[in-house]
Amino acid sequence: MENKELSLRFSLPSYVLLALSLLGGAGYEGFLVGGAVRDLLLGKEPHDYDMTTSATPEEMRKVFRDFRTVGTGIAHGTLTVLIEGHALEITTYRVDGTYTDARHPDAVRFTRSLYEDLARRDFTIGAMAYHPEYGLFDPYGGEGDLREGVLRAVGEPTRRFSEDALRILRGLRFASRFGFTIEEATACGMHALKESLARIAKERVREELVGLLCGAHAETVLRAHHAILEVVLPELTPTVGFAQKNPHHDYDVFEHTLHALSACPPDPVLRLAVLFHDLGKPACFFTDGDGVGHFYGHAQRSAEIADGVMRRLRFDNETRERVTLLVLKHDTPPAPETRQFRRMRSRYGDRFLLDFLAVVRADRTGQRAQLSAERERELESYEAAAEELLKTEERLSLKTLAVGGDDLIALGYARGKAIGEMLSRLLDEVLGGRLENTKEAIMAYLGEKTQIPIECERKFLIRMPDVAELCRLGAEKSEITQTYLDAPEGVTRRVRCRTFAKKTVYTQTTKRRLTAESAEEDEREITKKEYEALAKEKKAGTVPITKTRYTLPYEGHLLEFDVYPFWEKQAVLEIELEDEDTPYAIPDFVTVLREVTADYAYKNARLAQQVPQEEA
Ligand code: ATP
Ligand code: MG
Repeated sequence: MENKELSLRFSLPSYVLLALSLLGGAGYEGFLVGGAVRDLLLGKEPHDYDMTTSATPEEMRKVFRDFRTVGTGIAHGTLTVLIEGHALEITTYRVDGTYTDARHPDAVRFTRSLYEDLARRDFTIGAMAYHPEYGLFDPYGGEGDLREGVLRAVGEPTRRFSEDALRILRGLRFASRFGFTIEEATACGMHALKESLARIAKERVREELVGLLCGAHAETVLRAHHAILEVVLPELTPTVGFAQKNPHHDYDVFEHTLHALSACPPDPVLRLAVLFHDLGKPACFFTDGDGVGHFYGHAQRSAEIADGVMRRLRFDNETRERVTLLVLKHDTPPAPETRQFRRMRSRYGDRFLLDFLAVVRADRTGQRAQLSAERERELESYEAAAEELLKTEERLSLKTLAVGGDDLIALGYARGKAIGEMLSRLLDEVLGGRLENTKEAIMAYLGEKTQIPIECERKFLIRMPDVAELCRLGAEKSEITQTYLDAPEGVTRRVRCRTFAKKTVYTQTTKRRLTAESAEEDEREITKKEYEALAKEKKAGTVPITKTRYTLPYEGHLLEFDVYPFWEKQAVLEIELEDEDTPYAIPDFVTVLREVTADYAYKNARLAQQVPQEEA
């Protein structure tokens, strides 16, 4: 670290000068101390001005008798004085007694010696005192350490850390915030006494952890000193050095997490989500036949672990819920133009979506040493589309839906659960862009039909999958031929012949479009004879579509891989969901080129007329 220019010309706020002059006028010493002096030397404005004095608490009360004082810290010598609208903490020079609980001195003793007071402080950069008339008092070389960017314990490190183990985490936090190198003996002391962190109150650990994570140099500090953190966060241990054996990843799980942290804005919720996002990977790891590593279900597992950690460290509920939701969703960002995306927004709100975008970016950025231009473009267009949507569309929710329960009751719906269900289906239709959010449109829609089809299928164009791998994982293979038949405008008719396990099934399907994009579907089994007769009514300009379908039950859903004869390098993957909020997973060995759920060109009826060129 290069030497810093330190400045000793401070201009102090008037309330601080007033307090110093009142103490001086009464015959006591008074100094600025701790973080305030450090920050002033660094040229930063301190967030508060801690002061230290030779006056005892009783003497202080007399000095500040014209001011309001608060004595909550009085047993340790701290009096809070309210001056000019500021709360100023002034502490009597103090010597800490012996420590038996690795945290609190058994007793404190007041002293008239500033030198003794500074000796009890943990790091040299926080053990300096300053007075505008007398200048800097710096018996431990804090100024030099500050200039050189070194974090050094005051006195003998192991003794200081065994007195109070919290200092170990404070040290990591300072190193992360300022980018300082931890001096060797200090670092050794921290590591030697790390186990005593187990005795520190969880709330204090939590505060220091968040401070450490949000520092500009969290990546470096965690890389060098993760062993210390593992005492309070043993969930990290399995990720350290855990090779991913996956072409998307250059790093092991922990290294990836560190890179992702650096790519993440220094916000507590976001950084916590990134720290936790892959904790479940080691438990979910397996290698396929080609030796490639996969982590099916890891987002769910990581979210469970994150929840446990945050409960243990006594995080507030809101933070815990925000973080675990981000962890849960991080692996499967839905395309912004989809209903899934709008649904996510509707349910969790805009702040969640913005957080989510930041976590997705950090995660992706942390995968490779260099983000490829293509990846970067993908991320940018994803973010742009999402931001555009947030800007231009109103956030829809049941509250903003143009109809409510009373409207449905007026239409004859029975009170109760059915109404809620119908309203959320209507919301879905609106979120999917198939229904306008006006009372008129929704009432017309409801009048037209008694049943709303729930179509929640997501379709992806993928790189040609490894068919042998699919079969090894238990996929069932069937051969499908479907022919589109003559039909009036707004109606699609098709017959299908599906051979599966040496058995052939014939079906006829009629889809009647109801509104913009909702349809009513009628599917029934027919005989071979009927099939052959119907197939003759083939729609002009179409050819029968043949495909091989691999059906794979995977994490609670059926994945249908359709391999068409006209493509060599690409195929289509469909996932049928009960509800578009149902989480689903795509195996890691499948390379998604893009989502085509809403792309008309990839509807089978369209493929029967015209086949798009390969993109793979
Ligand atoms: P920050 O900018 O985070 O407030 P700070 O150095 O002011 O940094 P504080 O926690 O406000 O830290 O504490 C003020 C001062 O009290 C420190 O600079 C340090 O000298 C001393 N101090 C605080 N906690 C401890 C501790 N656990 N052990 C020893 N000294 C401590
Ligand atoms: Mg402070």
